[in-house]
Amino acid sequence: VSIFATVQRAPRDPILGLTEQFVADQREHKVNLGVGVYQDASGKVPVLECVRAADADLSAGGKPYGYLPIDGLAAYDNAVADLVFDDSVERDRVAVVQSLGGTGALKVIADFLHQTRPDAGVLISAPSWENHRAIFTRAGFEVAEYPYYDADRRGVDVDAMVAALQSAEPGTVVVLHACCHNPTGYDLSPADWERVLAVVVERDLFPILDMAYQGFATSLEADGAAVRAFAAAGINGAVTTSFSKTFSLYGERVGALSVVCADADEAGRVLSQLKIIVRTTYSNPPTHGAAIVAAVLTDPAQRAGWESELGGMRDRIKQMRTALVDGLTAAGATGWEHITAQNGMFSYSGLTAEQMIALREEHAVYGLDSGRLCVAALNPTNLDRVITAIAAVSN
Ligand code: PLP
Repeated sequence: VSIFATVQRAPRDPILGLTEQFVADQREHKVNLGVGVYQDASGKVPVLECVRAADADLSAGGKPYGYLPIDGLAAYDNAVADLVFDDSVERDRVAVVQSLGGTGALKVIADFLHQTRPDAGVLISAPSWENHRAIFTRAGFEVAEYPYYDADRRGVDVDAMVAALQSAEPGTVVVLHACCHNPTGYDLSPADWERVLAVVVERDLFPILDMAYQGFATSLEADGAAVRAFAAAGINGAVTTSFSKTFSLYGERVGALSVVCADADEAGRVLSQLKIIVRTTYSNPPTHGAAIVAAVLTDPAQRAGWESELGGMRDRIKQMRTALVDGLTAAGATGWEHITAQNGMFSYSGLTAEQMIALREEHAVYGLDSGRLCVAALNPTNLDRVITAIAAVSN
């Protein structure tokens, strides 16, 4: 008999499973608000102009595709550190490795922390991006949740969150969404962040600031404020960066892990361990996406172009949020203003699982059963259909 005879079939990934169902749906007017991908007004995943230009330069340069160092392209790592930290912390106190998207950064830090502090607990927000729990569980940790979303008040229950952190054991790893919380869209206010930082310092917790959407809420600067405040507080912590959404480079797998250490010597030791994890997992990261991002970030004109394109994506999402609320209100559905109080690509709509199923089955509008809708996939062509469908299932 085969040694795999007893292998069980794993459950389908809920989001990718939904995409398969969407693809198989024969209805022409179907709309996919399930997966977290930004689309432009014509419903396409954009190629940013700054990316197109950097890509053309790279191709014209005819550089060979050799191996990168284990920790990635140095120019990229430095550019990421500048973007993430500015001057909030000395560069030599931060160990940076280029990673396979934000997911890869989370995996490397999870493995490193498990090697360093196997008995630490890990706390993620309730709810959180599903992969947070999966990644840290697979790395060997017990994962628990801190309260976050308050369904009744439609916002963050920061009192409950701070209370939970207050009672966490010293050394507990706390995964925080730096901005544009996935899945709810509700972020901490600057005053809330101060409270969270204070309890992290007081209880000696290890924060991981997961930054997958810098620039999608307000601006690069404002969205990075919490990360810089944590770095400036002089504590150990990590930042996991993804450029998948902000550069629309999903498939290139461009991310970074930055670990803030006590001093340069510690950062060197930490980096040496991170490199072993990388070496034994995928050896070294891919070249092309990181070369594009490094070129854009380090060229002032290109960087300005990127900021403007990023602002364009952000503004389009906000317009769609407003248009959705206006349309629902005009259709006689009330109580939708919370959609415009949220940030980023996702909206916890407040629709129930039953309503989400009805949206899918009766109207071919696909979202998650949790009520999460990807508002970054709305456009002038599908908007009316989505409004009509939501109004129909919520009346
Ligand atoms: N972290 C959060 C909160 C996310 O929403 C995502 C993507 O959906 C990621 C990390 C992973 O990003 P990447 O696709 O770059 O691995």
